[in-house]
This record gives sequence, C-alpha cells and structure tokens, in this order.
Amino acid sequence: MPEETIFHKILAGEIPADVVYEDEDVFIFKDINPKAPTHLLLIAKKEADFVPSIADLNDATNHVPAMLISKAQAFAKDQGIDGYKLTFHVGKGGGQEVFYLHLHFLSQQTI
Ligand code: 5GP
Repeated sequence: MPEETIFHKILAGEIPADVVYEDEDVFIFKDINPKAPTHLLLIAKKEADFVPSIADLNDATNHVPAMLISKAQAFAKDQGIDGYKLTFHVGKGGGQEVFYLHLHFLSQQTI
C-alpha cells in the first residue's frame, strides 16, 4: 500500500477542497496557497495511476504525466485561458512537498 498523502484524503473527501473539475481520470482543485491568480493542482484519480513523483514513473504509469497535461490543456481551453504555466516539482530537492504526483497549473487569468 502506498503511503497515504493529503491528496489521498482530498480525493476521498476526508479533507475539503475547492474542486473545479472532475472526471473519471482526473481531479482538479485549487491550491490552498496560490502563487498566481489561478493556481490549480491536477491529480490522477485511478488507484492504478497513483505514483508518488515523476522520479517513480515506470511502464505502468508513464502515461500519467501526459494525461494530466492533456486534461490541463482541455480545461484551459474550456475556460478560455490562453496563457498558463504547467509545472511538476520532482523530489524534495525540486520543491516537492506532497508525494502524490500532481501538475501545477498557474495563470494570471482567473477562472
Ligand atoms: P509540491 O510542492 O508538492 O509540488 O506542491 C504541493 C502543493 O499542494 C503546494 O502548492 C501546497 O500549497 C498545496 N497543498 C498542500 N496542502 C494542501 C491542502 O490541504 N489543500 C490544497 N488545496 N492544497 C494543498
């Protein structure tokens, strides 16, 4: 069993979050400590897609970053956001604090 993170608890509804989009693959919610007018976090929902970090990707989970980027692109398009930054922090040295792979979505535009 993977170590439970705060994002597992958010996904399970045990901790509240400001969810802006959800489908069978992805959960998108507002970062609690925003670094831009729009600062969202995208995580994979399926248990089989769970991976702590980019550094832990393997053949079974290599598709996850591309899926998250694709969902970010679709979300931005849907919201009419045409400028944004996508970031993965990798490992403690890369600024990663929560070891549940997530994509940061930052924009100066608001949703
Ligand atoms: P990391 O540094 O691991 O790439 O990013 C983790 C992000 O999760 C940080 O930007 C932090 O503000 C955010 N975060 C940490 N705890 C919570 C929480 O309980 N709720 C929400 N919505 N965001 C959180």
